[in-house]
Order: sequence, then C-alpha cells, then structure tokens
Amino acid sequence: MYDVVVIGAGIVGSNVAYNLGKYRLKVLVMEKESDVATKTSKANSGIIHSGYDNKPNTLKAKMNLIGTQLYPKLAKELNFPYQKIGSLVLAFTNEQVKQLTILLDQGIKNKVTDLSIIDKQKVLELEPNINTNVKKALYAPNTAIICPYEATLAFAENAVLNNVQFQFDDAVVTIIKEDDHFLINNKIKCRYIINAAGVYSDDIAKLVNDDRFQITPRKGEYLLFDRLDHLFNHVIFQTPTKMGKGILITPTVNGNTMIGPTAVDQTDKDDDAVTQLGIDMIKNSISNISNKIETDKIITSFSGLRAIFKDDFVIETSNKDNHFINLIGISSPGLASAPAIGEYVIDLLKENGLNLQPKANFMPYREKPIRITELSNDQYQKLIRSNPLYGKIVCRCEVVSEQEIINAINRPIRAITLDGIKRRTRAMMGRCQGGFCSTRIMELINKHANIPMIKIKKSGKDSMILYKQIKEDESHDQK
Ligand SMILES: Cc1cc2nc3c(=O)[nH]c(=O)nc-3n(C[C@H](O)[C@H](O)[C@H](O)COP(=O)(O)OP(=O)(O)OC[C@H]3O[C@@H](n4cnc5c(N)ncnc54)[C@H](O)[C@@H]3O)c2cc1C
Repeated sequence: MYDVVVIGAGIVGSNVAYNLGKYRLKVLVMEKESDVATKTSKANSGIIHSGYDNKPNTLKAKMNLIGTQLYPKLAKELNFPYQKIGSLVLAFTNEQVKQLTILLDQGIKNKVTDLSIIDKQKVLELEPNINTNVKKALYAPNTAIICPYEATLAFAENAVLNNVQFQFDDAVVTIIKEDDHFLINNKIKCRYIINAAGVYSDDIAKLVNDDRFQITPRKGEYLLFDRLDHLFNHVIFQTPTKMGKGILITPTVNGNTMIGPTAVDQTDKDDDAVTQLGIDMIKNSISNISNKIETDKIITSFSGLRAIFKDDFVIETSNKDNHFINLIGISSPGLASAPAIGEYVIDLLKENGLNLQPKANFMPYREKPIRITELSNDQYQKLIRSNPLYGKIVCRCEVVSEQEIINAINRPIRAITLDGIKRRTRAMMGRCQGGFCSTRIMELINKHANIPMIKIKKSGKDSMILYKQIKEDESHDQK
C-alpha cells in the first residue's frame, strides 16, 4: 500500500514528489509516458516570471511570488541551471505605455520588488538590437530563466534518491475507492492521490466522479535559433493581450535564442504539431520588436499545450474525497510556481490527516551531470585520462561524448529514449538535429539499457524509430 500516488511527472508532479521525499512515506509517481517532462513541462518559455503579470489576490499571484523566491536555493542544491537575466516589457505606442503603468501597479500589489519603467535610451542601452521606435519598457531585473526539463528532472532525480518510486508507461485509467484506500488500475493501492496530470487533470478528476472541470488545451508554438545567433540578453516581452503574454524573445540557459509562443485554443489534448500558420504568426509578430532577427537561421520548432481552466490555478482537496487533491489549470506561471505548489500540496495533505514524519536522512542535493563543454582544457584532459570515453565525441554539433550518454542512461531516472538522451545531454540538439548521431545513440541505448534496437523509441509509446529488422546481425539485438 502506498501512502501517496502522484499522477503525472511534469514539473508539478515531480516537485510534489521532491517535497514528499522529505517525509517517511511510501510514494509512487505514475506517468503515462516513458520519461519525466515529456508534455507541457518540456515545451514552454522557461521563464521564472517575477510576478507582475498575475491578477492580485489569485493563487497564481501567490504561488508565483513564493516559487520565484524558492528557485535560487533549489537550483543550487539540485544543480540545475538558473540565470537571473531580467526582463523588459516593451511599449511602442502611447496606449502600450499606459499598460506598462497598469502592470507596474499590479506588480506592486503582488509584492514584486524592483520593478521600474525605463525610458527609450535605457532600453536601447540594455538591448541595442530593439527597434528604435520603442518608447518605454517595464524592467523586471528579477526575472530568471531555467531549462524546464532539466529542473523537472532534478526534482524527480532527487525524489528517487529519497526513495520515491517512479513508474513510466503506466497511464492511470481507473480509480476505485475501497474502504480507506484507492485502487488504481486494479493493481495499485494508496491512501492519497495527487492529480498532477496537466491537460488531462480534468479527465483524472472524472475518475473519482468529479466533473466540475473542463480543460482547454491552448497551443503555444516556438522557433529556436542556433547558439551562434545570440541577439538579446534579457527576456523581451511585448505588452500582453487577452490571450496571454504575447510572443516573446528569450535567451535559453544554453545560449540559444527562442521566439514564441502563439496562443491558439484547440480540442485535441495530444496535438502538439507546429503549423505553418503558427510559424508565420511568430515571424510577423517579432518584426515589431527587432528588425535584426534573421528568421532563416531557425534550427527547429516545437510547441506545448497550456492547460486552461478559467483564470486561476485550482489547488484543492476534491469535494468528492478529502484524500484526493486536484491540481487543475496549472497554466503559466506554472513553472515559476511549481516549488510553491509542491509545498502547498504538503500543507493540504497534512490538513487532510496524512501523518508527515520528516526523514532524518533526507538527501537535499543532486549531483550535477558532467558536461565536457563546461570544463577547462586541463580538467577535460584529466577526465579523458581517467576515462577515454569522455574523449570519444558522439554529437559533433553540441560536443557530447560517449560517456555522457552512458551516464544519462544510468542516472537515477534512466534515459532510454532518444528524446530522454537529448534532454539530459543536449546530444541531437544542434544544427544537424541528430542527423549524424542518432543511430550511434541508439546503439548506446541498445548496449547499455539492454533494449533491442527495434524497440527503441524517440519519445512516447508509438514513436518507434525502426520499422522492422530486415537482416539478422550479430549485435545486441539477439537479446
Ligand atoms: C507555450 C507555453 C509557455 C509557457 N511558458 C511558461 C513560462 O515561461 N513560465 C512559467 O512559469 N510557466 C510557463 N508555462 C506553463 C508551464 O509550462 C506549465 O504550467 C507546467 O509545465 C505544467 O506542468 P504540469 O506538471 O502540470 O503538466 P505537464 O508537464 O503536462 O505534466 C503532466 C503529466 O501528466 C501525465 N499524465 C497525463 N495523464 C496521465 C494519466 N492518465 N496517467 C499518468 N500520467 C498522466 C502527462 O503525460 C504529463 O507528463 C507555459 C506553458 C506553455 C504551454
């Protein structure tokens, strides 16, 4: 019998798992995909918003503020990249300048410190590539960026180090209440459930007869530039619209530049295809910001789905069962808020009778994965002498060695798909997008994770890469 089952291993479920790992509890995370962060938590702007954008007195405002304060310590302890680079909201018209004042007032109500409205000269000093017809900007120096999937992985890996279990490729399809516990999929018993299923959280709530929620997936598409084409140092927003923060430009923690997202409501919860319409919309929109952006240098595109339910997060004990906690409508700023949501869930569990005994041996840290590109020449030579596989480069675009890929396969949460390796090591993320190295990486997964070549996936269940084996070979496929 588990004390708690968390449904969903996005950033929210993984942070809840990280927080539960601090207590003497038996905890399981059930995830329908093959890895953590394969849905919304992998495809977003990666911004830890300072918090001026939320309506005052909402859960979004409260969670964003607390989450933002928690991130620096978490990033240090769990060793994931976090860069406080600041943000600008640009105003090009007098109407937009008025909106900056509204945002500033809202920020002050939300207790966001250090906001200011800066004039054209200062904007162009901070960002010389912005169009010179800019009038003013709202400057938020505390805005930060993270790599959203690396942060998710860090929370999840720390949870594993603290004995939380993760089960992948295991979709929750039934929940039955039996006496004092739940029975999930007719096999897993637990006393409490946390519903952190993202765009599917309304469907999960329905499994306990709670049909108050209807999530609308809102697609956001992005275009990504190579690291060589670095134009901006801050997160650059346009003035917001009814549909959200609008199309923005941001550096990533790895030095790429990203532009997007669009905001289009749809019904399909799995359709994350990038559309020509979306690409055109992004290209048109950013020409307002800067005419220096060369959109022919885009190396890839992707999209994510926001889980939209009304205007605010729902973080509550279900009115059907006080051992069932709903996290619904965790759209933006869900990333910024995740650490606060995790702590809030612990409070709700306590309120609802879960006995929370802190673990004496809780391990607050997570080891940083070795990245050879981050080493000095001396450090690198020493590493190669200790293990020559660090000198064997598999991904030439991003300079990733064979040993880094093997390490990713063997970490507390194993990377056993191509996307899993990609997100942990950056292999296949460069200019050729895996054209040269993906087959080599498949061979390494085959050898070190003991998965037949034919069964290796790009990402989820149906994303097989090889169609069928056409000749016998003497490699590891015989296993
Ligand atoms: C375009 C875009 C831009 C954004 N930008 C930002 C930003 O800059 N800053 C910010 O703070 N927020 C941002 N957000 C919001 C943020 O990304 C989300 O709030 C956050 O990722 C939600 O995390 P989650 O864990 O709730 O959902 P997800 O990451 O979707 O995780 C839910 C998990 O549940 C699993 N699941 C679903 N059904 C089942 C089932 N039946 N059984 C088992 N598992 C199941 C899914 O497979 C998935 O892994 C953005 C969102 C989008 C789409």
